[in-house]
Order: sequence, then C-alpha cells, then structure tokens
Amino acid sequence: MPPKGTGAILTYHSIDQSGSVLSIAPELFAWQMSSLSRAGIPVVPLKDIRNHQGAVALTFDDAYRNFYTEALPVLRRFTYSATVFAISGEGRAQLGPGSSLPLMTWDELGEASRCNIEIGAHTVGHPRLTSLPFEQACEEIAESQQEIRRRLGVPADSFAYPYGDSSPALRDFVRERFAQGVGVRLDYLAEEDDRADLPRLDVYYLQKQKLFASLFSAGVRRYIQLRRAARELRDHANFLQRSRPLR
Ligand SMILES: [Zn+2]
Repeated sequence: MPPKGTGAILTYHSIDQSGSVLSIAPELFAWQMSSLSRAGIPVVPLKDIRNHQGAVALTFDDAYRNFYTEALPVLRRFTYSATVFAISGEGRAQLGPGSSLPLMTWDELGEASRCNIEIGAHTVGHPRLTSLPFEQACEEIAESQQEIRRRLGVPADSFAYPYGDSSPALRDFVRERFAQGVGVRLDYLAEEDDRADLPRLDVYYLQKQKLFASLFSAGVRRYIQLRRAARELRDHANFLQRSRPLR
C-alpha cells in the first residue's frame, strides 16, 4: 500500500563513487529507485507533487554530466520523471566541492528534456543570491529562465535557489515567474508550504537503505526532524561566528 500523508521532494547532486557529501553512488541510486518501485511509492513530476499524497518527486541540482550517464538510464528503466536544475552560464568555478565535475552540455540537457526530464533554472552563475544587490539577483534568476527556453525550446517552470539562499522579496520574484521554487530546508511537504520555497529531503541523510526504504514512516520522519534541528543549530552557530565583530 502506498503510504498516506504528504509527499516529499528528494534532492540529489552528483551520482558518483567519490563518497563526497554531494555524491550518491550509482549502485545505491539504482537501489533507491527500485526501492521506491517495490514500496509502491509514486514518483511524480515536481509540478504535480503537491497534489499527490505519499508521492515523491526527484530533483538533481547543478546538472552534473553524471546525471546523464548514471541517473538517466535508471530513470528511463523505471519510467520515472525528474527535474534537473541547470546553471545557464559557465558557473563551474563557484560550485564548491563538486566543482571539478563536468556539467551536462546543452545537447545533453535537450536530450534529457525529451526523455521526461524537466529542466529547471538554477541561476546563471550559482551565486548566493542574497549577497547580491536585489536587481542583480533578479537578473540571475530571470536570465537563467530565458536562456533555458531559448536553448531548449521548453519553458523552465521550476527554480532552485543556489544553496537554498533566498529572501522574501526574491521568493516573491520567483512566485511571479515560476510554477514552483525549491530550497534546502530539510522537510517533507506540508499543506501550508510556500510554493516559491518548497522544502526538500537531501538524500545525503537517507543513504542508509533502512532509512530510505521506510521514507514515510513515523521513525524516519522523527529522524529527519532531528537532523533538521541539528542543522539549524549548526547554521545558527556559523551565523554567530560570522557576525562576530572583527578586532
Ligand atoms: Zn546548486
């Protein structure tokens, strides 16, 4: 029986063997997809996730080439849809730990989009949007949306904030232009969510097969809640450290 309750958006970055915080091993990814299938959990497009109780939507940030080589064949086997959030500029230098990994070319993005994969916008250069002047941040968002449409001939209706970093004004901007925006707040979906800043479950926290296999159980929900609390505490401590006056 499919689980009851609200659904979840899963976040992946790179599908590779490196074991980095951004990576899920290809075999584990394939196991996770078959686990969803065995559990009868529907995998639905991101645009539909809020209308499906107990369903999952799959998202892949940054559009690493290994999405094309490792994830796409598995998704096709299960006929699962997914959303890939692509940077429209070069952007590689600012991507952090995964920065040396190649990104998908426009041709590969185009091919993916013809295989039931939605290509969402993820800015031009992957900046922390709130660190930019507002106008410039809006340009990053709008230009990446236009470039995807221009290059691929399909609309980009979903947006992901780099690092999940947003402000009320930026969320207003995204709400006007996109059907949905996603952040990095670690949570399942809820009725009252802002569609311009939907929470997601980073699969980094669900690497243990036992956890992934019972994604919607009360136990895993509690575990996610604890991880969120720990993360918020850590972010707060980092914030305090950053805002300490320099002497
Ligand atoms: Zn990103």
